[in-house]
Parts: sequence; C-alpha cells; structure tokens
Amino acid sequence: MPFDLTDKLVIGISSRALFDLEFENALYEQEGVRAYTDYQREHEDQPLARGTAFPLVEALLRLNTLLAERQLVEVVLMSRNTPDTGMRVFNSIEHYALPITRAAFSGGQPIAAYLQSFKVDLFLSKSVDDVQAAVDAGLAAATLYAPPDVSTASPEQIRIAFDGDAVLFSPESERIFKEQGLEAFQAHEQAHRFDSMQEGPFAKLLILLARLQQQFPAERCPVRIAIVTARASPAHARVVNTLRAWGVSVDEAFFLGGVAKDAVLAAFGAHIFFDDQDVHLKTASRVVPSGKVPYRGS
Ligand SMILES: [Mg+2]
Repeated sequence: MPFDLTDKLVIGISSRALFDLEFENALYEQEGVRAYTDYQREHEDQPLARGTAFPLVEALLRLNTLLAERQLVEVVLMSRNTPDTGMRVFNSIEHYALPITRAAFSGGQPIAAYLQSFKVDLFLSKSVDDVQAAVDAGLAAATLYAPPDVSTASPEQIRIAFDGDAVLFSPESERIFKEQGLEAFQAHEQAHRFDSMQEGPFAKLLILLARLQQQFPAERCPVRIAIVTARASPAHARVVNTLRAWGVSVDEAFFLGGVAKDAVLAAFGAHIFFDDQDVHLKTASRVVPSGKVPYRGS
C-alpha cells in the first residue's frame, strides 16, 4: 500500500532552508555548478550548520513521538540539488538524527511542480522563484530570511506566529490601507466587521494546525499559535469574526497598531513568523526565524 500523506501535515523544505548553505550557494553562483559539485563532494562528511527553518522542523518532527503510533507530520526535503550534491544534505540530516527520509532532488529544475506530488501543506525555501510558483499554485509558501542572531524558541512547544492581512487573510483590506490610508481602512473594516475576510495563502495551514492542536489536551498542547498584526481596534473585530466563521481559534493575538513586531515575537519565542512585508520581516528576522509570503500572481 502506498504511504498515505493526506492525513499528515506535510512540510516541504529546501536544503538551504534546513541548513546553512550560504557559502556553498555563493560558490555555485560565482564559480558554477562544477565548482559547487566538487566542493560538496569534498566536504560530504562535514555536517552543515543549522539553517533558518531547522528549529521549526526539529520541533515539528518531535510531535511524532508524542502520540503512540500516530504520525502527525511528514517533512520532505525538496531540493534543487542533484542526487550527487544532495549526499552532503542527507549526511547532515543523519548527523542531527532528523527523521527525514523522503526527498526530491530536481537537479536545478524548478521544484514547484513536485510540491503537489508530495501533498505539501507548507513549503519553505530560500528561492524566491520556487516560493512564488508555489504561492501561484495556491500553496502556503515562504522565502526564508537569514537565521536570527538570537533565537528564543523553546524546544518544548512549537510556536508559530502569523501576520493577518495578505497572509492568513486576503490582501484586499491591506490594499485599501495602502491606496487610501489608515482612516479609510479603519472605516472599511468597521463597516465590514461582520463579513468574513477571504482566505489568504496561509489560511488552510492555520486550519490544519488548529486541527492538529485538537489532538492534544488544551492544557498540554505542544503547538501554540499567535497572530501578530499591525491592525488595531476597531479593525480587530473583523479578524476575530473571520476566525469564528472559520471555526478556528488562536492562542494569542497582538493588535499592534504601529508598534514594532519584533519585541512581541521575541517574547512569544516564535519558531517561525510569516509576514508579507519586508518592513516587518527585516526587524523580526533578527530575533525569530522569519519567512516572506509573496502576493499571488494572476
Ligand atoms: Mg500583512
């Protein structure tokens, strides 16, 4: 019987998201595929350092040890490496004892086409093109920033923080803010406070995570979810009403109204934070692993 991925939270992760391959990537870009291949072969037994998504992946895989005989999460390596250069990545996976066994090596080709083959629910990468293609195909995907200087993430409980507009929710309201300003945005959101927002690129992931949380007793849930949004009252009401309509509750919410997001994210101790705007990501990524969610192309 084929291995069933449909009942699991499937994370697709690129080798550069999981491990620090920045030096090697620069070598590839400056000196070409041959120099890169030779270097990776020569250093095959030298484990790679942890990358931006490593703490999240490690913590997610730990969930599989909590419920007897129930696998909740599957992590698939989705890499543009060749099987040959991918050896160093697999050796590093073994070095850190990560239970990752499935992989796709596309040999330099775009990876997006294979995400659906593995029923990926979340794709994390450093390739802007691969992430854009994944988002355009309707998947939750983010381009990762460099790992933070300090991480406050605890291994005990996975903490995931989402921006609201253009991440969990559609970018419609954000567009009003950008085009017509704060006052028009507030008035619009107040007038539509009982109308659910459309699903954004990460809505399905939030719903899947909420379902995963329900498998654990609330007081000992190993996953905690926060919304960290620049919205402030009265624009908070539409967020709460939309989540109610989706049948989802989040553990924490921060309506910051212009207060910087990084301090809250550090205090929350996020394993990962997703936002659509560089202005928030630049500061956030210094304190917590962060990923940029691009707008869906038409
Ligand atoms: Mg936003």
